[in-house]
Amino acid sequence: MFNFQVTSVCKTTNARTGVFHTSHGPVETPRFMPVGTLGTIKGLTSSQIKKTGASMILSNTFHLHLQPGEKIIKEAGGIHKFMNWDKPILTDSGGYQVFSLSKLNKISDEGVGFKNPRDGSYIFLSPEKVIEIQMDIGADVAMAFDHCPPHTSTENDIEDSLRRTHLWLEKCVDSHSRKDQALFGIVQGGKYHNLRAISANFVNSFDLPGIAVGGVSVGEQINEIHNVINFLPKFLPLNKPRYLMGIGSLNEISLAISQGFDLFDCVLPTRLGRHGTALFNDQRWNIRNARFKNDFAPIDKTCSCETCKNHSRAYIHHLIRNDEILGLTLISLHNIAHMIRFTNAISKAIKDNCFTIDFAPWKRSSIAHHTW
Ligand SMILES: [Zn+2]
Repeated sequence: MFNFQVTSVCKTTNARTGVFHTSHGPVETPRFMPVGTLGTIKGLTSSQIKKTGASMILSNTFHLHLQPGEKIIKEAGGIHKFMNWDKPILTDSGGYQVFSLSKLNKISDEGVGFKNPRDGSYIFLSPEKVIEIQMDIGADVAMAFDHCPPHTSTENDIEDSLRRTHLWLEKCVDSHSRKDQALFGIVQGGKYHNLRAISANFVNSFDLPGIAVGGVSVGEQINEIHNVINFLPKFLPLNKPRYLMGIGSLNEISLAISQGFDLFDCVLPTRLGRHGTALFNDQRWNIRNARFKNDFAPIDKTCSCETCKNHSRAYIHHLIRNDEILGLTLISLHNIAHMIRFTNAISKAIKDNCFTIDFAPWKRSSIAHHTW
């Protein structure tokens, strides 16, 4: 279990296709993973999500710990049964959320104490506790607890947080004992190449089933994101799935795939969907806009999702304008299908050895939707 097979490699870039085996079936890579923070991809049922072609989905340890609490999920038989999703699930450790959403009281090498944003109560999360919570939740992949400082931090501050992230990784590895759950380590280090390299080497030394890169797309400039994507892969193991956390734009995903990243997640497709914005190629369309009032074409006629097969832009425009819940469901469904279709098309292009022709990620204008 949890082995990763590379099934094909691109002849001119570091792009590859692979299969990551989990307790709930295989995940073919490269692959976009939809985000269901609270054990739900907002507005969609499990069978609707399945029809988008989704394989592994995400949930969030921090949010599930606050509500409903991991003991309820354990009592239900684990997160798969609780939310009725029989395919792979990954839980993010909540490191990013602890530091970005809550009022921090105290960070130490032992963990983080903070105020519960729901009721103001005091919560202390240690790396050991975060692993215990994730083992109770029971996803296929658990993530190490990491310290993700703001991208504007000084090099000294990033270095200090990195030392703590590495200490926490050791504690996470020591306290993780579920054999049917993989633990991934997270490489941090901000925009500093020397720190990123140190972090990658440190995380590699644990020989975990997968490796993630965090602290990217946290508000920094796009060229800084590109620098990490281009620089880091040579320090990452070839025989493990490489997960670039929080990246959801097509250009950056295709660039990252060309450098050998395999897994991606982003809240954007569903967050945009809830605000009436549909993804079309690499554009975002606000379906609320009056120009869609009598546009009876589907959102994307080349898309085979349930939304595009059955409903027009005009109908969805009508729903959104009237705050009908179905409108948000239909757009979220299309947006997720769109992202999965994109990574599936890249996967096919790598296998057919035309990735560089069809996707040429280094040229902004060349995302080749004709191959989708
Ligand atoms: Zn669609």
